Amino acid sequence: MFWAEKIANDVVRKYDARIKKGESIIVRDEKTASGRVHVGSLRSASLHAIVADVLASEGVPVTFHFEINDFDPMDGIPSYLDEAEYTKYMGMQLYKIPSPEPGFDNFAELYGQEYVRVLEQLGFGAQVYRASELYLSGKMNDLIRTTLEKRNDIRRIYAEVSKSERPEDWHPLNVVCENCGKLSSTKVTDFDGETVAYTCSSDTISWAEGCGHSGRISPFDGNGKLPWKVEWAAKFVVLGVHFEGGGKDHYSKGGARQVAEAISREVFMFEPPYGVFNEFFLIGGKKMSSSKGNAATAVELAELLPTHILRLLLLKTPINRQIDFDPDGDAIPVLFDTYDRLAEKTWSGVEDDDSVLFQFVHTPAERSHIHKRFLPRFSQIAFFVQMPHMDVFEEVEKMKGSPLTDEDRTEVDLRVTYAKRWLETYADEKFIFVLQETLPPHAATLTNEQKQALAQFATRIELADEFTGESLHKLSHEIKEGLSGLSAGDFYAAIYAVFLGKESGPKIGWFLSTLDKDFVIKRLTLKA
Ligand SMILES: [Zn+2]
Repeated sequence: MFWAEKIANDVVRKYDARIKKGESIIVRDEKTASGRVHVGSLRSASLHAIVADVLASEGVPVTFHFEINDFDPMDGIPSYLDEAEYTKYMGMQLYKIPSPEPGFDNFAELYGQEYVRVLEQLGFGAQVYRASELYLSGKMNDLIRTTLEKRNDIRRIYAEVSKSERPEDWHPLNVVCENCGKLSSTKVTDFDGETVAYTCSSDTISWAEGCGHSGRISPFDGNGKLPWKVEWAAKFVVLGVHFEGGGKDHYSKGGARQVAEAISREVFMFEPPYGVFNEFFLIGGKKMSSSKGNAATAVELAELLPTHILRLLLLKTPINRQIDFDPDGDAIPVLFDTYDRLAEKTWSGVEDDDSVLFQFVHTPAERSHIHKRFLPRFSQIAFFVQMPHMDVFEEVEKMKGSPLTDEDRTEVDLRVTYAKRWLETYADEKFIFVLQETLPPHAATLTNEQKQALAQFATRIELADEFTGESLHKLSHEIKEGLSGLSAGDFYAAIYAVFLGKESGPKIGWFLSTLDKDFVIKRLTLKA
């Protein structure tokens, strides 16, 4: 069974009575908009979006809320911003910090909207809201009051569940300093039922400077913010959440999730949502910070892959297993091959986990009209686009063996676009091929055995009636079988050397068949 279906089944079992009444299941996820969003966050977004999607496809009414968390303070400066300029904002809330780029209301809007656009592109449609709306509208007021009134219960839960001791005078709340506007530097010292006393000091936290101000302020209507484990529980309550997971790091014993669940039950008297953890999403290559680009951000990954292929990357691996993606290597060609395999199976009428996955790999909007079409291998398209003498459409038509339909041509266009993008950005050197217009200097280093084998191959090609991928493949095999004093590897390396100036390349027969026969013969005999 597709992993998201299993989770959706658990949700249905848990909220059976509610669903039977026709009431909506609330799914929630959030991302703090503290900078460009790392691909890792797509794991969490895909978990929530796909569970909501599966539920909806089963006829369960469901609403997926996605929060841009703009109410958190800045607690670090992203490496691509000027540290000197942003240091003064450390400890200030993201929605109050100016946007590094024009056209956005604040810091959080720039990065939050950028990420939401990726989610939309992925078909992870969600109702987007901001954390600041929850606080400023007063929706959090009752929970802030309960938190302050039951602060000793919260202290006990922190000690019991996460073994972390808080001082006896601890008030789980930060307020915004009326003098300097910072949140992280304030410490609340009492609550009289309507207002809290606070001091703003550099001693409160190491990374934010305070101004020394002290005063009394109402903790409500956006003046105060709960610490995040308490806030997590409060958000379960405010939105009435039924399904919400989180990163594996929060799911450890005594971790944030257990603390939030205990607070939800024991302090807010609210049954916490069902949830599972998502494993990490790693980017394998070491070159990720190189000038070539940085697929470590969600935006860049979404530019590197078309929607259905990115969804495949996110959905094919069960959520509790790690994804390690390496755009330098063959991960992208392999992803396309995987898509092609799922498509072929589905289109041949097979109904199994793969055909279910194939459906969900497409956005809900695409799903009703997935056209059956010819799917040329991505690796071959990536080769074609590097050979200026080749007409990609003609080559694909040869592969297909019949004229291309409109859908086929659209697919070829798409693969050409993404193959070029991959080759220009991440593809390792071994995928880059340049047909050498003249005999490469490398050919001078060939041994006599290699030269003889090439000459023999040339003669056989000249005598043969056919000049096709298949016939050339057979011929090269026959030569290889008859070699003496030369390994098969050295024979093939010699062929790649004279045509591409490299030691390896695409499948020999198929590759040579795309070239002019006379040219192939001349080059193999080192005459051109
Ligand atoms: Zn202050």
